[in-house]
Amino acid sequence: MLKTAVISVSLFYLSCYLFDVFLLGDVTFIGGVLRFGVILPLTLGLLIYLGRDNPIQHKEVAAIGVALAANIVWCVILLSSNSPSVLSYFYAAPTFQMAITLAAASPFRPALRASIFTFCLNYSAIFFLEGVTIGYVMQHLVVYMPTVVMTLLVSHHLDVEARMGYLRAAENEALKRELSRQNKDLARLSVTDPLTRLSNRRGTDLELLRLRNETPELAESALLFIIDVDHFKAFNDGYGHGAGDMALKRLARAMRRALPIDAHLARHGGEEFIAVLAGHPPEETHRIAEDLRRAVRQLDIPHELTQDRNRHVTISIGAASGSMATTRDFDDLMERADRALYAAKADGRNTWRVNEDKSETGQSESPGERAGEPHSGGSIETTEAEPQRDVA
Ligand code: GH3
Ligand code: MG
Ligand code: MG
Repeated sequence: MLKTAVISVSLFYLSCYLFDVFLLGDVTFIGGVLRFGVILPLTLGLLIYLGRDNPIQHKEVAAIGVALAANIVWCVILLSSNSPSVLSYFYAAPTFQMAITLAAASPFRPALRASIFTFCLNYSAIFFLEGVTIGYVMQHLVVYMPTVVMTLLVSHHLDVEARMGYLRAAENEALKRELSRQNKDLARLSVTDPLTRLSNRRGTDLELLRLRNETPELAESALLFIIDVDHFKAFNDGYGHGAGDMALKRLARAMRRALPIDAHLARHGGEEFIAVLAGHPPEETHRIAEDLRRAVRQLDIPHELTQDRNRHVTISIGAASGSMATTRDFDDLMERADRALYAAKADGRNTWRVNEDKSETGQSESPGERAGEPHSGGSIETTEAEPQRDVA
């Protein structure tokens, strides 16, 4: 880009120089020195300056400065000549100005300023030309004025177009940003359960895909927990759907806090949740299941309508461990965890069971609760202790 500009500018000054020499003949030396020794380096410096990250006002001032310098040089070349062609050549002033303004696609304001400056400059110089009469000045004005006005009109038109283009581009950019924000929101909403703000089933599918692609070795040893709220229909019937929603929200928060940071917790549907932990050994299953059970129980949400002796909202958990490297593996894990959940429900709820390859083991209360001692949650379970056992 800069290379093309440098070549164009050099060719432009070379053609100006050839014009000088061809029309005036006696300015070969001074024309060459001024055109190539002064104005060409100045213009190249300007190009570099314009290409850098400088304030736009500074760029405008620099451009006007160089345009004026070029005009001064031109006037000096003409005034140095004794050729009678000088008077004809002076008509070239507006043409040059028009060419430079349009070639640089100069914005209107700097173009107007440059026009006023060059006008003053040229009409100061004109009186020093040999053989100038009032008639010549009038004729010159007749040519100069319409050309300058036309140049300014075109510059104004280009300026308006450029501004409109800029505004359109800015508007497009803003629309694009808004669209991308909305797309992100939509993508997030499509994997989020609106009530609990947990992931939904689709979110779990995507998480499984991500795990299999990014960390396949972790997907080989996973833990899966299916969590179901106990007697929740009765809770809704007794306390109302709104209270049910609120309870689900609190449960979701408590379970999220109870789980390790890398666990994926999702609302699987209704009052059922699942937790997926990749890269965890089977030995952790019991502890995590108990943490979940206890976290919910310790919310102490009253549930007088349950048939159990325990009069609080509780959960039952079915857990299984193994690979989820393929969809089939995961379906198998789900089936085993579901069987364990069924066993936990059958064994009185507020408990967990682990399916350890065709068998379930579990317990219903924490050691503290079993012994009837108060624990950090401050409540004491009154249900009978369940011995840990295998369920075929
Ligand atoms: P169990 O201990 O056997 O799981 O009994 P349950 O009553 O929890 O099971 P059931 O499947 O009979 O009832 C589930 C209830 O969960 C039915 C429905 O009213 C309630 N439920 C499901 N989704 C929502 C929800 O988004 N908000 C509320 N408030 N209740 C829900
Ligand atoms: Mg339930
Ligand atoms: Mg259910």
